Amino acid sequence: MKIAILSRSLSLYSTRRLKEAGEARGHTMKVIDYLRCYMNITSRNPQVIYQGEPLEGVDAVIPRIGASNTFYGTAVVRQFEMMEVFVANESQAISRSRDKLRCLQILSKRGIGLPVTGFAHSTKDIEGLIDIVGGAPLVIKLLEGTQGIGVVLTETNQAATSVIEAFRGLNANILVQEFIAEAKGADLRCFVIDGKVVTAMKRQGAPGEFRSNLHRGGNADKVKLTAEERSTALKAAKAMGLRVAGVDLLRSKHGPVIMEVNSSPGLEGIERATGIDVAGKVIEYLEKNAGGKNKDRIKY
Ligand code: ADP
Ligand code: MG
Repeated sequence: MKIAILSRSLSLYSTRRLKEAGEARGHTMKVIDYLRCYMNITSRNPQVIYQGEPLEGVDAVIPRIGASNTFYGTAVVRQFEMMEVFVANESQAISRSRDKLRCLQILSKRGIGLPVTGFAHSTKDIEGLIDIVGGAPLVIKLLEGTQGIGVVLTETNQAATSVIEAFRGLNANILVQEFIAEAKGADLRCFVIDGKVVTAMKRQGAPGEFRSNLHRGGNADKVKLTAEERSTALKAAKAMGLRVAGVDLLRSKHGPVIMEVNSSPGLEGIERATGIDVAGKVIEYLEKNAGGKNKDRIKY
């Protein structure tokens, strides 16, 4: 097959691993900087043009869209969908998962476990918002943050009010969440491909840090999930319409609660921690599904 990886750079670990894994299985792998793609949106003959040439004969696309380029990146993925190329994750599913609020709203409708979460526009409603989540300590986060940046723990209602006011003053959209203290700075990253959890790791934040992100100095180990954790992760990926997903959950006293669902989950942390060839499993999934089957599962 000819497989395109939509990624800014081959120097990224995940991109490099996907390329290696595809080549090892006999495919032609092409890394395409999606910000350098442009599109011809004519009737009946949609095209993606890269380095002056239309991209032709692509059998499957693996989107690795960076958080700061969601708008343009998903437009490129959508154009491939219009060309009826199989995509590992559809544009609509990527957009859904990128916005933490939209993601939680969809998950709540399906009855999937979540931390109690509130959202408001006006600073006049701060008191009510803090009440919804049961008061301090609570977590405040930017809707489109990533790698733990923009996630703040406030210990008192007064501190929470100041932080909410400051973010709102900058016109940033935030959500407010119950703090799951019993998770003790750890979360579970479940790597889901095509309705199965292929492997999972437990990430533990650095001492004194409540955020478990590896980018914040956390470390990770392979973990065995309970049946409930596994089914929660699968339900979450399915609700988002993601075929390849990194589902993060916390162990709370009411069972597993979803933190977020990632559409371009990193491979470095999970492959190191678990020793599983996750890149190879992504390619295997494309082999089984590209070429006509499984198309148009969700609407644009
Ligand atoms: P990001 O997209 O920046 O990774 P997350 O929402 O995943 O943002 O939060 C980062 C980390 O902070 C989580 O992995 C988790 O360890 C911690 N965290 C976030 N929200 C909560 C919460 N409500 N209770 C406890 N820990 C939290
Ligand atoms: Mg996270």
